Amino acid sequence: MTFSIHGLAVSRGIAIGRAVLVASSRADVAHYFIEPNKTSAEVQRVRAARDAVVEEITRVQRDLPKDAPPELAALLDVHLMLLQDEQLSSGVKHWIQDRHYNAEWAVTTQYEAFARQFDEMEDPYLRERKADLEQVTERLLRYLKGAGSPVQPPAPARREQQDLLLGDTLDVPLVLIAHDMAPADMMQFKQSLFAGFATDVGGRTSHTAIVARSMDIPAVVGARSASQLIKQDDWVIIDGEAGVLIVDPSPIILAEYGFKQRQGELERERLNRLRHTPALTLDGQKVELLANIELPEDTKGAVVAGAVGVGLFRSEFLFMNRGGALPDEEEQYGAYVRAVEGMQGLPVTIRTVDIGSDKPLDRHARQETHLNPALGLRAIRWSLADPPMFLTQLRAILRAAAHGQVNLLVPMLGHVREIRQTLSLIDHARAQLDNRGAVYGAVKLGAMIEVPAAALMLKVFLKYFDFLSLGTNDLIQYTLAIDRADEAVAHLYDPCHPAVLKLVADTIAECHSQGKGVSVCGEMAGDVAMTRLLLGLGLRSFSMHPTQILAVKQQILRADATKLQPWAQQVIDSEDPAQLLYKP
Ligand code: PEP
Ligand code: MG
Repeated sequence: MTFSIHGLAVSRGIAIGRAVLVASSRADVAHYFIEPNKTSAEVQRVRAARDAVVEEITRVQRDLPKDAPPELAALLDVHLMLLQDEQLSSGVKHWIQDRHYNAEWAVTTQYEAFARQFDEMEDPYLRERKADLEQVTERLLRYLKGAGSPVQPPAPARREQQDLLLGDTLDVPLVLIAHDMAPADMMQFKQSLFAGFATDVGGRTSHTAIVARSMDIPAVVGARSASQLIKQDDWVIIDGEAGVLIVDPSPIILAEYGFKQRQGELERERLNRLRHTPALTLDGQKVELLANIELPEDTKGAVVAGAVGVGLFRSEFLFMNRGGALPDEEEQYGAYVRAVEGMQGLPVTIRTVDIGSDKPLDRHARQETHLNPALGLRAIRWSLADPPMFLTQLRAILRAAAHGQVNLLVPMLGHVREIRQTLSLIDHARAQLDNRGAVYGAVKLGAMIEVPAAALMLKVFLKYFDFLSLGTNDLIQYTLAIDRADEAVAHLYDPCHPAVLKLVADTIAECHSQGKGVSVCGEMAGDVAMTRLLLGLGLRSFSMHPTQILAVKQQILRADATKLQPWAQQVIDSEDPAQLLYKP
């Protein structure tokens, strides 16, 4: 039966495919297809892992001390039973043989299916056995990892490459459905085989949504109970434009969305023609279109999209999910140099690490967050709390600046004391490099304006910095007191709120009056509905996901910046700017 689930539109486009349910805790499991002639070897791999776990548990059981509680032996029995369960093993075999999933993916998929059955059991004792299933799965995965695979995972491949690899056998797109997904886990799915994704939780500018947008696949977040209502293998349409999921669509709905999908593809082809067109308004004003990136490898997409530099390199993605071990100076230096070289002489703005809130260092830390993580030890506060860590990053960035034009951007400053501390640490990092005789380059220094306090003391900021970059995602969150990652208050997260627009307008105007550079690097910069307003407010530098650049360029080519100026003033003076903004 067809039904729809409403959430928040995150990333444009339509995806139609079969659902793959992925538990957040299992997102780090590799997902790839194996070649059809290797399925037997993969099944054998699972068998070997299962045998090893059975042997391990049997040994533990045999060596149990005499005074061990009898429940322990009984529990181990349950684990053995689960491991030898026919349904579980034939299920895993099915995913490998019929769907060509790799072993780890097959094990976790079957685990998910089983776990749901346990959830639905009425008997509390049986329901609690889900924890045993979890432990058994965990052990299996550990063995699979340790044993290594005779079938090497292919290099991350895009869907078309997967199709080439597997021929027609698996010509069914897959869409990922999860309760939640940490931003670092989303990174695992970059360049992956999924055609779209949806999560139960999250806001439009949560970092998970931001990474999804950078992958340019249709996505919906905040779809509440999607991961409960959708079953493995259900056909799902993800309408990333309207923020809707349609489950088990009828043929007529499928045909309509198939048509929309093709329209979208045509539109993309049309936009592609703008790749080499300079970003100039009708009245001849030059606009700088920069890219936001998460990893050095993203520079490829930035160059292809015609970005004239990187306006925001979110360096924190180099720090995530490493089990607490932070990247050392050499590793960071290597990554920054790769980004600089990737941009082929164009400037790269590297933001110092912005860990915390919805971007935890480790996915497991997500559970143990503080009461108000967005107001806690995040971004520059985290860096200033650990000077040796911060100095390591600063040295790496300064050294990378010897290879090209690098700008150093500092997130979430709100206090002049923080500014002074940061600048003194930058001086200290330079002194350390001098002492070492290391080569480093000059950098322009910029501050993010993403806390209202910063937007209200622009003169002070401009005394210390060469340029400012508006982080509208956080500026909206902190101005309106709305958690950007909480779907329950997403309707109040309003980029057009007069208070937000006033802070944005003031920042642009103050930078202009002092002859300093200013850009917007929050999601507002890539939102085509905001392009005309930002142009009218005088903004000439926009930084966004490479995938948004051409659509924004199209708006710029159609705009007359001089004529937009009085209209923009009217919009920000209005009680209800959205009314004017969305008027045709
Ligand atoms: C912002 O807050 O607008 C921004 C660009 O930073 P991030 O989204 O990484 O917090
Ligand atoms: Mg921010």
